[in-house]
Amino acid sequence: MTEESALDRSTIWPYEAGELGDVYYSRDGHPTGLAAERALGELEGGRALLFSAGMAATTTTVLTLAGPGKTVALAAGAYYGTGRLFASLERWGLRVVEFDQAGPPPEDADLVWVEGPSNPFLAFPDLEAAVSHPAPVVMDATAATPVLLRPLDHGVDVVMHSATKYLAGHHDALLGALACRGEELYEALHRTRTQTGPVAAPDSAWLLLRSLRTLELRVHRQSESALELARRLAGHPRVETVRYPGLGPDPLAARYLRGGFGGMLSFDVADADAARRVETSTRLIENATSLGGVDTTIEGRFRWEGDRVPPGLLRLSVGLEDVEALWADLEQALAEA
Ligand code: PLP
Repeated sequence: MTEESALDRSTIWPYEAGELGDVYYSRDGHPTGLAAERALGELEGGRALLFSAGMAATTTTVLTLAGPGKTVALAAGAYYGTGRLFASLERWGLRVVEFDQAGPPPEDADLVWVEGPSNPFLAFPDLEAAVSHPAPVVMDATAATPVLLRPLDHGVDVVMHSATKYLAGHHDALLGALACRGEELYEALHRTRTQTGPVAAPDSAWLLLRSLRTLELRVHRQSESALELARRLAGHPRVETVRYPGLGPDPLAARYLRGGFGGMLSFDVADADAARRVETSTRLIENATSLGGVDTTIEGRFRWEGDRVPPGLLRLSVGLEDVEALWADLEQALAEA
């Protein structure tokens, strides 16, 4: 690691001849965060800001770009936590409408929110249709990562990540990230972060710097393994539906993703009981929430999302283990379905 990226846990730095320097109080920014933001900004082709969680990045975006009486158009089937947050902001006067992100956003939208590949439905937005809308467009590209897609290159105004997932990649740091182009937008998002306080912790920012060094390798390997597992799952007698953008492949995902389709997929078994039996029968694969880590995780999403998902839906986040070992584990667990 370079000296620039050394971990600095201080919350204060001296004024320079009585004036504010680049860093002065860690709620506004700190050296480790700035180093990680520079590294992520380079990958995204914009300027990045780090947050204490993905949801903090989302909250900051909405507080900055929307407000009472404004309409947020949210892609149907986007991460359920995003919809829950927006719904809770309705009592502050936000209007929320859902739309099919395979087509154009509703005309009356003041802010457009798309996600790709979406969690856990693996749908992909039509970015050309989205950016043709006059409202600012935000893309949650958590599952794509800048390795497979740079949304800013397609005209998206703000790219958002739960950096807890692939970017940090080891299930050891809770982090969010935004990236954008244009000084005014960057300053506005930064101002909201400073005013509200959800800056990333220096330790987490340092872990992100470490992880970005292997991001490309991890994402390509996870994409290869996920495609292989998706194909095999699609041929398994106990599996009803497999969702993976590389199967087919999905035309919108194929239009925008480069070099792979990501490490997340979902598939359905008969019902919630069968899903529970499968997720509790894996040995190598961890039965845990979250995604994007080096360790493969599986979970039935019904426990979180209820009727929004088929009761037998299992989300699989493919890690770096040997693909044959992962398949052997899935096969023996599926025998319990
Ligand atoms: N966006 C997506 C696609 C996610 O999967 C998640 C978390 O699962 C979030 C946002 C929220 O991020 P965090 O858990 O880091 O707050």
